[in-house]
Formats: sequence, structure tokens, C-alpha cells
Amino acid sequence: MSLRLTLLGTGTPTPSLERGGCSFLVEHNDDLMLFDCGPAAVQRLLARGIALTKISHIFLTHLHYDHCMDYGYLALTRWDQGAGQIPDLKVYGPDGTERMTRLLFSEEGVFQADLAGRTLHPGSHLIYEHRGGKLPRQRPAPEVQEVGPGAEIRGEGWQVHVAAMVHCQPYLKSVAYRFNSQEGSIVVTGDTAPNTQLADLARDANVILHMCHFLNEVETDPRITTSCSGHLDAARTAAAAGVEKLVLIHLTEQIARPGIRERMLAEAAEVFTGTIVLGEDLMEIPLGDIRPEPIL
Ligand SMILES: [Zn+2]
Repeated sequence: MSLRLTLLGTGTPTPSLERGGCSFLVEHNDDLMLFDCGPAAVQRLLARGIALTKISHIFLTHLHYDHCMDYGYLALTRWDQGAGQIPDLKVYGPDGTERMTRLLFSEEGVFQADLAGRTLHPGSHLIYEHRGGKLPRQRPAPEVQEVGPGAEIRGEGWQVHVAAMVHCQPYLKSVAYRFNSQEGSIVVTGDTAPNTQLADLARDANVILHMCHFLNEVETDPRITTSCSGHLDAARTAAAAGVEKLVLIHLTEQIARPGIRERMLAEAAEVFTGTIVLGEDLMEIPLGDIRPEPIL
């Protein structure tokens, strides 16, 4: 049994070569799960050496594009390369996830011309058969389940719990996820202002991946502080929940500047005494103890 956690994208809606939109890979035995699927998630998976056909589940925290832009890309590429030989992708997300999926892949959807060509044209049939496919070719059909607070999804040796978050209601709903297994527990906050449900969801977890969109003493306008979290918000939630490791993600270029990031981490460490990690794209987060070691 094994569990690995890799940060694929740690950025925001602001385009960046260093930080893609939010996306996190959890590998539990043969189940490869994406938590969010923001811009560049597919490229980061390739960089990490993951075959896209191996992705089995996607959990979307909310439908802001910096968290779901690569959903269509991943689902189409996985379907195309899978050539009818792999199970349909399982997708979980808040209200609107079914509609998004229908509007991507149905006959009324934005990819209708592509899908008609790939499922009906003889040249596409040839490639499909070379990949091991058997005609007639089916369209991509992700299995979507919309989830809300209290939902529980069960897999082989793992469960995912869902809690409601506070972000851009009533315009879009947001949830956080907690992945539980014998090998470890991981919480993905998505985008949220501080709230008590999050500390409850994250109680004693091994790792929390927490939005850190601003410095608390710099951004004080309630329009942002009531919909997003800063570094001290993340540290307070991590302390209240008693987690082992706090990984700061959803980072802006301003926050990640030399000098600023060190100050931010020092201030957060005054609130949360566990391990704090400043997330980077393609960083693997150890799930066990992180201890200083002597020079080899
Ligand atoms: Zn976001």
C-alpha cells in the first residue's frame, strides 16, 4: 500500500510560467486522483511522468477556471489515448459540474465538431483501432457526481469527505475535501475564507493544502478577507485543527518574492508550530516525519 502527494499547480488566476492553476495529485495504489484541475495540470502531469490514462478520479473544489480549466483537456486526451480500453473518468464537484460536463462533451457541447470527427471519420477510426479500440467508437462519458457538505466518497482503501467552504456564494459553490486512508490523510481547502467547518474537516490530518492568497496585515478589505484566506488565516486553521503539516498554495507572485516569503513563513510559524511548507509546482510532499538530517 502506498500514498504519494504531489503539488502540480500552486498558483492563482494570474498567468505564470512558474505556477500553474491549482491541481494536486494523490496516488493511492492504482487510484490516481486529481484534486482540482487548473490550467497547466496536464503539462505538469506529463512532467511528473504520469500517463494521462492512469488518472481515475477528479475532485473539483469549485468551478473558478483556475481550478478546472484543464478538466476538458484532461478528459478528452485521456479518452482519446485510452481508445475505449480504460474505465470512464469519475468526477466529483459542487453544483454546476454536471452542466459543465454536458456542455463540454454532449452533442450540443463545445467539442461537438471534434467528437463527431473522432467518432465518425474513417481516418480517426484507423488511429483508434491502432490504439486497440473496437468500433463503434463511444464518446467520452465522465461519471459525474455532484457533492455537497457531508458527502462521502469511498474507494478501495480510501474515503473522501466533503465540507462546504466560504468563497463566492451565491454565484458559485465551493467545497473542501479530506482524503483518508491508512497511509495518511490530506485536506484540500480549495478557495475559502476562514471558517469553522474547515478546522473540523481537517482535525488531526497529516497534511492540509491551504489557500494563501494574501498577507493578512496588507489586505484588510472585507471584500477579499470574507472570500479568501491569507497566511495567518491558514496558520490559525492549521493550529486549530492540530494538523502535522501546513502547505501554503494558491500563491501570488507578490507573496512568493524573496524576503516577503521568508517574512510570511516566520509570521505563520508564530501561530502554527507544526511543519510549514511553501508550495511549488511539482513538489512532492512527504507524508511522514520531516526531520533535519546530517550532511551525507
Ligand atoms: Zn482560485
